Amino acid sequence: MINESLKGIKILIVEDDFSSRLYLNKILEKSEVIALNAGDGQEAIDIAMENPDIDVILMDIQLPVLDGYATARRIRQFREDVIIIAQTAYGLMDEKEKILESGFDDYMIKPIISQVLVDKLKSNIFRKRRL
Ligand SMILES: [Mg+2]
Repeated sequence: MINESLKGIKILIVEDDFSSRLYLNKILEKSEVIALNAGDGQEAIDIAMENPDIDVILMDIQLPVLDGYATARRIRQFREDVIIIAQTAYGLMDEKEKILESGFDDYMIKPIISQVLVDKLKSNIFRKRRL
């Protein structure tokens, strides 16, 4: 358990399912993060370009327009340093490999449990800070 706070961390939530997005926002609101939202891959790229101070991107894999893999690869071209965490419905072995090859730092299997999300965010953020 990491005792540091997520307060003020800027997170882009990329999720096409409205209720899932609402749920993620609710969890993150309690941690006082600054949350931005995108409903498809292209919107995520646009928001990432306009907001170079985003710390973490929480990326759904199954998205309209551009899927999560393609979106992550595109964002990596101009944001080498941003933390990108995949949210996947499967967790299959070949999907894990594809996730890591596409430039993600980490992944979570849906349904997302609030404590798992908070711990994942903290471990990735504070690992990066120590580098
Ligand atoms: Mg989806």
